Amino acid sequence: MLLTDKVAVITGAASPRGIGRATAQCFAQQGARVVVLDLDEQASQAAAESVGSGHLGLAANVADPASVQQAVARILDHYGRIDVLVNNAGITQPVKTLEIGMQDYDRILDVNLRGTLLMSQAVIPAMRQQGKGSIICLSSVSAQRGGGIFGGPHYSAAKAGVLGLAKAMAREFGPDQIRVNCLTPGLIQTDITGGLMQDERRHAILAGIPLGRLGAAQDVANAALFLASDLSSYLTGITLDVNGGMLIH
Ligand code: NAD
Repeated sequence: MLLTDKVAVITGAASPRGIGRATAQCFAQQGARVVVLDLDEQASQAAAESVGSGHLGLAANVADPASVQQAVARILDHYGRIDVLVNNAGITQPVKTLEIGMQDYDRILDVNLRGTLLMSQAVIPAMRQQGKGSIICLSSVSAQRGGGIFGGPHYSAAKAGVLGLAKAMAREFGPDQIRVNCLTPGLIQTDITGGLMQDERRHAILAGIPLGRLGAAQDVANAALFLASDLSSYLTGITLDVNGGMLIH
């Protein structure tokens, strides 16, 4: 097993068909003690129970500093350490540039980008003390190709911000043996992309994916497992594409 006795915190992992939940399942199968953080405490607990016993589900709004600090304090109280953080919580909105209102801009930036910063700030002191840690940030192909499929330009901007933030943190905390890497999924079948499945655009999108299928949450979870584990011990500051070849660069 690749994560025996590691404590792994995964944000946004309550969504039953989401990437976070698949990652929680995958990490639990590899021996990790998983902490599911999501907006609703009951849903988080149910998700934690669904991946086995000995895991924890807590409420946290990743965009709110007090909520994040409180949740991380509870985790450290419970397990005494944090080995892995997956910054997975994210929201999107399919609008065009001229339609972006300031409230929507704030909302999208707050969860995707500020949330990644706040969660990282909250766990890094513990990782520093341990002299080891792995942080995985969910960006998106949308950041690399300029959106155009599902999220709006503010989503692309937030996810591009995640790439910059993660690289800067990788450089800053490398000396503490804290690795920080990004995943850039293509089109993955989850609730975020749910509406698209019935859409006729599906065929056009599939034609642009060399592997000929949309991604599964498990495809991203497997890549997260690689970045969380010691298999990737000499990787930091990287961007790992999980997109079926949709963007080859
Ligand atoms: P999802 O909607 O299934 O899950 C997102 C989860 O985040 C939900 O459980 C939601 O409750 C939670 N969440 C939302 N706001 C939160 C907040 N403020 N605090 C805590 N939790 C919050 O989405 P998904 O498709 O599994 O996406 C997971 C991540 O992967 C996101 O960051 C998304 O942007 C990214 N991503 C997804 C795709 C895709 O095609 N599905 C592609 C590229 C990147």
